[in-house]
Amino acid sequence: MTLKPLVAYKVPFAMPDKLLYIETFGCQMNVNDSERIVTMLADLGYAPTGDPAFADMILLNTCSVRGGAEEKVYKRLANLRIYKRDGKSQIIGVGGCVAQQEGEELLKKFPYLDLVFGTHNLHLLPDMVRGAERGERRSETSFIDNDQRLDLFPSIKGQTRLSRFVTVMQGCDNYCSYCIVPFVRGREISRRSADILDEVRQLADEGVREVVLLGQNVNSYGLKSDNEPTFAELLRMVAEISGIERIRFTTSHPRDMSDELIACFSDIPKLCGQIHLPAQSGSDDVLKLMKRGYSRSSYLERVQKLKESRRDIAITGDIIVGFPGESDDDFEQTLSLLEEVRYIDLFSFIYSSRPGTKAAEFHEELTRAQKITRLDRLMELQKRITREICQTYLGSIQKVMVEGVGKRPAQVSGKADNGRIVNFSGDSGLIGSFVDVRITQAYQNSFLGEQI
Ligand code: SAM
Ligand code: SF4
Repeated sequence: MTLKPLVAYKVPFAMPDKLLYIETFGCQMNVNDSERIVTMLADLGYAPTGDPAFADMILLNTCSVRGGAEEKVYKRLANLRIYKRDGKSQIIGVGGCVAQQEGEELLKKFPYLDLVFGTHNLHLLPDMVRGAERGERRSETSFIDNDQRLDLFPSIKGQTRLSRFVTVMQGCDNYCSYCIVPFVRGREISRRSADILDEVRQLADEGVREVVLLGQNVNSYGLKSDNEPTFAELLRMVAEISGIERIRFTTSHPRDMSDELIACFSDIPKLCGQIHLPAQSGSDDVLKLMKRGYSRSSYLERVQKLKESRRDIAITGDIIVGFPGESDDDFEQTLSLLEEVRYIDLFSFIYSSRPGTKAAEFHEELTRAQKITRLDRLMELQKRITREICQTYLGSIQKVMVEGVGKRPAQVSGKADNGRIVNFSGDSGLIGSFVDVRITQAYQNSFLGEQI
């Protein structure tokens, strides 16, 4: 997923005299890191712009989770050469997972690149930028120790919106056989709960109404620390904070989806009825090869319990097709998993071999065309399931947190409790409020409704 450049933040610090263009690739962690970069560089006088042609500095915050995402970054980097204008020292930098993976090599490959900063080095960025302003080129990609990391969790000031990410953990220790994340994001670390709660309180004071607790596997939060609560306990603490009306979290690993956490969906009204629970495959043989640590039946048992805990919970998932060794029968089992779980939405990917991972050593039998055929069948099935589920919302009343104007004139837009976008006719004065809306049309990615 390539996200749109981040634009139009309120920058509360020094008067901006320089412009920063930042382009974010990949997951919510990168979106969050980009927001932190915007905050940090505002202190150096950089204000965000949506147009690289006007920027004094261009940064790419990159993703390497699949080969395609990485290639996109290289193409973009090659294009950026045109912005290195004569007579003006425009700074170009690369951060995130590709930077972590390639490091110094990027400086060699792209002579017009000034900065390379890894996933543990965001805090060095202001110093690196000052150096780049003096013409220095620098790469920083070392992993830092956990004690230091605890003090460096991203926290974002002065970009007030109704909904904000709050990082609760970073990195991942799971080493799923296909995944590069543990190599480029480092070991798993849980942030201090006191720091998380302080940040949420501060956000609530600034007018934030929804927090999305963020990490690669939030449900293992605190499990490796004697002094921290479990994730379920943390949720209950966040729910106590007045001003915060909605809580979401992402991402969950099915293996660590405890009964204690599932119970939160029935006990905490502020916790939204939405969960992202990636299965990756419906076949036990493939799940074993992927080193996922759960079986199809234990995954389905978790799903059943979630549905009992919150009757109308909206479940989304991730599936990888064409994993090495995935037979026709394994793939059929993935299709039948979709029918059993009934995801409201699914993110589906063709397996992509990643350097350094265990699965990169596995023999791949399927051709690209066979993988694409499987992906198409999977997406077709999911389209039908999404359509069927969304139709059941017709006529229902959804509480919508209004976050902005809609795409059509005189329309506003927000999210229902289940995370779906809802557009309805209304005045922009409604932004920031919670409105009851009757659903009149159900589309594949959104609902249309009318205020009641
Ligand atoms: N931590 C999350 C989890 O365990 O579910 C997901 C992190 S990963 C950035 C997001 C998704 O990318 C994964 O759930 C998986 O479906 C997909 N993914 C990761 N590595 C992949 C690979 N090598 N090829 C294809 N898809 C991949
Ligand atoms: Fe990757 Fe697995 Fe960790 Fe998710 S849990 S980030 S898929 S290694």
